[in-house]
Amino acid sequence: MDFEQFFADRIGDLHREGRYRIFADLERKAGAFPNARNYRNGEEHDVTVWCSNDYLGMGQHPAVIDAMCEAARKCGAGAGGTRNISGTNHYHVLLEKELADWTRKEAALIFTSGYVSNQTTLGTLGNQIPGLHIFSDALNHNSMIEGIRHSKAQKHIFRHNDVADLERLLASVDPAAPKLVAFESVYSMDGDIAPMADICTVAETYGAMTFCDEVHAVGMYGETGSGVAERDGVSDRITILQGTLAKAVGVIGGYISGSPAMVDFIRSFGQGFIFSSALPPSVAAAALASIRYLREHNEIRLRHQERAATLKRRLSALGFPQAPSVSHIVPVMVGDAALCKQASDDLLQRHRIYVQPINYPTVPKGTERLRITPTPLHDDAMMDRLIAALVDVWGHLGIKKAA
Ligand SMILES: *Cc1c(COP(=O)(O)O)cnc(C)c1O
Repeated sequence: MDFEQFFADRIGDLHREGRYRIFADLERKAGAFPNARNYRNGEEHDVTVWCSNDYLGMGQHPAVIDAMCEAARKCGAGAGGTRNISGTNHYHVLLEKELADWTRKEAALIFTSGYVSNQTTLGTLGNQIPGLHIFSDALNHNSMIEGIRHSKAQKHIFRHNDVADLERLLASVDPAAPKLVAFESVYSMDGDIAPMADICTVAETYGAMTFCDEVHAVGMYGETGSGVAERDGVSDRITILQGTLAKAVGVIGGYISGSPAMVDFIRSFGQGFIFSSALPPSVAAAALASIRYLREHNEIRLRHQERAATLKRRLSALGFPQAPSVSHIVPVMVGDAALCKQASDDLLQRHRIYVQPINYPTVPKGTERLRITPTPLHDDAMMDRLIAALVDVWGHLGIKKAA
């Protein structure tokens, strides 16, 4: 086989379909968030980033940077091993305690990423619990799907956020069979939020465990910011809460929290946990500092929600079609892969505004969009410039607005 030709052909397909991915080459500037340096075609420019998942700018918070530098000076660069073989640093222990307490659970476990925490936890449960049936929301993240797919569990997919469909599927399975319902709280592409209490109620009726990915809610929802489970008062009804330290927390890593026995079980049987080196101590220290700050500062969440609501309202008034988001995410619909990419290029080149196009397979074909994520640090002047730029680009490219 001509491997090189094979690779080139498959990449050619992506180009033809208009969904070849080009990464924006950015240099983030601590203290200048949400502005960054963009390197492109031998030129460099300052740009305003409107699509970061550093939702609250915590990745550049002085308390977080200080904690990271201090721990690196104190403990060095790496952890020095897997958690079992010399790699457990005191900062990991402190971070796991903090996460358990924050999410109102008795125990927590950290992973090298949110992706690994989903894949490992769901995969381990599916492999270890004999005859497990997993009920998975149709729009679950790839990391959950991969965990379930590579396990021995039987998979059932319920219509997105549809509790009646979930109940229909739960009722179709042997009442004695072990069951798990896997879903997300905030869905990051549309910005809708799961009916968590209702999902808990049907899961309880059928004796199913619940697993909730709070990745796009961690730091941002609830009085102390631990997620939608906290906001909706259902933390004790979710068996396993999962989250990331890489989005609103601003660092890197993932976690689960729940009962001591469940956490100990994943710690003891989860291969993606056992066989991978521990996070650097500096990363754990930075995440810890970020969480401690977020717990104490609800005003950052109020400002965040206000920024998102203001942007949605202003775009609606101008007729920009949006997915009906009830969260901090502002998806502006384009509906065509090539046009979506052109709009993004145009914003960057002519307006120095960076919003990455979101195309298939991240979203279904025909629903291509610009996914805008306002943060508490996007001020009114930046928003004025974003809106003027969108109006200009939509006109320039003839993209459809609401009738
Ligand atoms: C980003 C993401 C993850 C993966 O988390 P990382 O910490 O980035 O690996 C998991 N679930 C959802 C819904 C995500 O958007």
